Amino acid sequence: MRYDYLIAGSGLFGAVFAREAVSHGKKVLVIDKRGHIAGNIYTEDEHGIQVHKYGAHIFHTSDKRVWDYVQRFAEFNNFVNSPVARYGDELYNLPFNMNTFSKMWGISTPDEARRIIDEQKKEGYKENPSNLEEQAISLVGKDIYEKLIKGYTQKQWGRKCTELPAFIIKRLPVRFTFDNNYFNDRYQGIPIGGYTAMVARMLEGIEVLTDTEYRDFIKKNSGKQEPDIFDKVIYTGPVDEYFDYKLGHLEYRSLRFEEEYLPDCENFQGNAAVNYTSADVPYTRIIEHKHFEFGKGEGTVITREYPGEWKIGDEPYYPVNDEKNTSLYEKYKELADAEEGVIFGGRLGAYKYYDMDKVIAASLELADKELK
Ligand code: FAD
Ligand code: UDP
Repeated sequence: MRYDYLIAGSGLFGAVFAREAVSHGKKVLVIDKRGHIAGNIYTEDEHGIQVHKYGAHIFHTSDKRVWDYVQRFAEFNNFVNSPVARYGDELYNLPFNMNTFSKMWGISTPDEARRIIDEQKKEGYKENPSNLEEQAISLVGKDIYEKLIKGYTQKQWGRKCTELPAFIIKRLPVRFTFDNNYFNDRYQGIPIGGYTAMVARMLEGIEVLTDTEYRDFIKKNSGKQEPDIFDKVIYTGPVDEYFDYKLGHLEYRSLRFEEEYLPDCENFQGNAAVNYTSADVPYTRIIEHKHFEFGKGEGTVITREYPGEWKIGDEPYYPVNDEKNTSLYEKYKELADAEEGVIFGGRLGAYKYYDMDKVIAASLELADKELK
């Protein structure tokens, strides 16, 4: 059997590329080392609730092409992400907005909030913040940094805020309006019926082998990559793993998910996501999955997320795009560019802290180039 593309990884990057290649008349084979398709956006129906097995995923984008593209494979509901932060017994709305400021300081107008933040950021103010702590204080002041950012971020990344890049916190909107929408994007929602069904539709009619690891598969089928079996490989696993870590390890943050089914509880926390922002609670957040679909299902399923240091064999969830890792990645990128017949992509292949829409855009861009 001859294929134009062997696609290693059935996550969004691999699935979108596979769909595009097939619609251009190419023959593709998709493999995935996991026992299921869809990568980290995999969802499973439990008690009538779509459970996000690798962490909560909310689709949001301002990219019209990407939004129109995903509509072909799923209908999206009108979920709007509005997490709540819990510090001890205090509850605050996220992202940082007038509701947060009002609760924190007992104020009611944007001017009052700005005045407090300006006062709090004076001390140690830097025009160009060089790390996450400086960036956070200059955006929202010291009180919010101490209660809602410092502990959460140190748990999440296992590093001090002074050792983390500023851009991580810039993902979050800061607003002087009473608006709890976590994202500024034009489009937002959750695919009705779950992400797995959406990816399954992308892969409809395409040959997929799960429980199939790239290297084992190549070995079994030829001992090396035979050009007459696959013209090209699209590789969406970790780029450093592909090269046997020969330049050293890139660092990732890993997560452990502790899932619990509460048959007698209809509503555990009243919201899809509650972030636990103090350093003394070991998990970063609790997800209550039924709220992504406005409360359907029997009982409730909750998941506690425990961040952890990554080591070989663990799932690499978050690339750590700090200076050290970014410069190591650049060296791997040189190897990747020189690797004949293999194209690297996706969150792990490109070592980028990509959201879903960016992964789809990158995959469509590759398809535009490759398949024209
Ligand atoms: P993946 O989904 O990781 O897919 C890669 C696939 O390759 C996997 O299935 C893996 O098993 C397979 N693979 C790896 N190595 C091999 C190998 N050697 N052989 C065979 N198969 C292999 N984005 C958002 O837009 N909104 C969110 O709310 C959001 N929340 C997130 C929450 C968490 C906890 C995490 C970790 C990420 C979140 N993201 C979110 C980002 C989103 O998960 C990614 O953008 C997207 O899943 C990346 O798709 P991918 O195909 O690049 O990678
Ligand atoms: N963050 C925080 N407190 C919160 C939520 C987020 O300090 O309650 C910080 C934290 O550093 C996190 C970053 O903001 O890594 C980005 O948050 P986001 O929710 O976008 O993270 P992700 O969805 O990627 O886990």
